[in-house]
Amino acid sequence: MPCWSLAEKKPAGANTLAARLAKLGLLTDADFILHLPLRYEDETRITAIRDAQPGLAAQFEVEVVDSEITYRPRRQLLARVADASGALTLRFLNFYPSQQKALQAGTRLRIFGELHDGYLGPEIIHPRFHVVGAGESLPERLTPVYPTTAGLGQATLRRLIERALERADLTDTLPASLREGLRLPEFAAAIRRLHTPPPEMTKAVLDSRDHPAWRRVQFDELLAQQLSLRRAYTARRARGAPRLVASATLTAALLASLPFRLTKAQQRAWREIAADLGQPHPMQRLLQGDVGSGKTVVAALAMLHAVEAGHQAALMAPTEILAEQHYRKLAAWLQPIGIEVAWLTGSLKKREKEAVIARIASGETPIAIGTHALIEDKVEFARLGLAIVDEQHRFGVRQRLALKEKGLFAHQLAMSATPIPRTLAMSYYADLDVSVLDELPPGRTPVTTKLVSEARRDQVVARVHEACRAGGQAYWVCPLIEESETLQLKTAEETFARLAADLPDLRIGLVHGRLKAAEKAAVMSAFVTNEIQVLVATTVIEVGVDVPNASLMVIEHAERFGLAQLHQLRGRVGRGVAQSACILLYAQPLGELARARLKVIFESTDGFEIAREDLRLRGPGEFIGARQSGLPLLRYADLEDAALVEQARAVAEDMLHNAPEAAAAHLQRWLGGREELLKA
Ligand code: ADP
Ligand code: MG
Repeated sequence: MPCWSLAEKKPAGANTLAARLAKLGLLTDADFILHLPLRYEDETRITAIRDAQPGLAAQFEVEVVDSEITYRPRRQLLARVADASGALTLRFLNFYPSQQKALQAGTRLRIFGELHDGYLGPEIIHPRFHVVGAGESLPERLTPVYPTTAGLGQATLRRLIERALERADLTDTLPASLREGLRLPEFAAAIRRLHTPPPEMTKAVLDSRDHPAWRRVQFDELLAQQLSLRRAYTARRARGAPRLVASATLTAALLASLPFRLTKAQQRAWREIAADLGQPHPMQRLLQGDVGSGKTVVAALAMLHAVEAGHQAALMAPTEILAEQHYRKLAAWLQPIGIEVAWLTGSLKKREKEAVIARIASGETPIAIGTHALIEDKVEFARLGLAIVDEQHRFGVRQRLALKEKGLFAHQLAMSATPIPRTLAMSYYADLDVSVLDELPPGRTPVTTKLVSEARRDQVVARVHEACRAGGQAYWVCPLIEESETLQLKTAEETFARLAADLPDLRIGLVHGRLKAAEKAAVMSAFVTNEIQVLVATTVIEVGVDVPNASLMVIEHAERFGLAQLHQLRGRVGRGVAQSACILLYAQPLGELARARLKVIFESTDGFEIAREDLRLRGPGEFIGARQSGLPLLRYADLEDAALVEQARAVAEDMLHNAPEAAAAHLQRWLGGREELLKA
């Protein structure tokens, strides 16, 4: 049998350590000092074995009675140890020969761990232990336990952090007047307390992150986030943009041609946007509104304003289906008032594409709508004045950068149907101005939501049948299979075949992400015109699709979908006059999280309420793909802490104006070189 030495297989020690530290983001002294404990252990006291509470970690001082390796049920090392009050067993399932050697009868140990009732009486599994040195005293401070990674021990981390604390610059970046106003402790004192708590600090106070020292760190982290976002905002604002001034002829013509009046919320948003467009610096605005709140018409008004001011406008959407919906709708609105709308996606034939690109470059085409094909290198606008992006967070970082370059000097409007709780919005959108559509157009009938077990699928199929025979239409959303697109496709095709067999007298269509664009478009337009009655679809229809006659939606394996997804999907129905329903088919058994999600979606139709619950269930880290958004995840602060977020926002504003050097130092400490990432 070959004999492998672990040590030989690993790369050189220094490299390994550096790599592991890098994995934790620990490069500079500032990184180390801001790497704060997860919790603390109290090794300042010895607990008598008799007084130990099961499940609570404690330190004991014991003498080894005996130790042995046993083989039942598997190889393990057992040591009997005792103090004056009682005895217990130490159990090691993995151990080194050196550990075994240390556990000789008669040796005095300090051990730390949680006591459990084991087969042989009280025991501790894998305790931390060391042999007590002659005259060794107890530590005076609580022991910090740091977040770490495999192969990097607490002792090493502690040592490195202590060294960094000695060397690092702990100057307070928060001007004293601001700090005192907020009643926060000084930075150096707060940081030292958290790494090496003074003897009088108790574990309970530190572990609950309510301590002023923790508040200071949380505030600083939020401040760094706000500073960085505000700075990016100011930098973009400093660039010039054409003032778009229009006499409102075209916008008035559009409004006169619509079969409805704008809601109050739409009017307000449009006023805010029009005011921005008249400024000599680029608009950086987000138009946020729940599904169905009517963002498209506001976008149309903005584009007409730009056109009338002599510029071009572009609207980009993350999927071809969504882009095409926009195109159809806008073409139907704008062509009658004499404005040409061009359509550009990657799937156009080469010749068509070249023709569109040429008309965009010459300025003949005032308005272009499409997918990210719009921001490809070949596309040059003659005089782009306004760039609108729908569901911006669904684009990748690279595409967002490309867009930024292309629209560098244009006004920008982002649109989103992802409702974000207010505190979260302050962080995500600190670099944007926000207009909110907080009211739905009148005349909508609320969607009824039903939870139905998969076992009753037949009844649901019957319901679809009935609805379609009565002239209605239905969506049938296929199960989500996140781990494999191929499997997802296969499932979609099976679902389609099964429904086609179950409902032979209905016309059924299938749309999924792998279809060619032309095929997709054909299916969608057949659904729009009611040639197809049941549309079997993957989540490609999640956003933006608008077919008012479709009043029934079935979501299969609803328990696999996220809350935001379910809300978006459900928003596809309830757009017409008919009473609409959304049926969530679920399979037993339901996990705890799935059950909680279904409960929320069943009980609420309010996007903001659902988003709040989503945030609660998932935590802000994952919310709308925080990683993708380029925003660093918060380690210590909680975005739900509205008061602190608001203070950080105000202080950031103040510091950028009155203490720019302190602001720069603060950013350097917290973000180091990583700030660039934020700008993506
Ligand atoms: P979303 O905000 O989800 O993008 P849309 O812009 O697609 O919403 O609008 C949803 C539907 O409501 C569309 O059919 C649109 O024409 C219609 N709509 C928009 N504004 C109004 C309004 N003020 N009154 C009535 N219907 C409206
Ligand atoms: Mg929309």
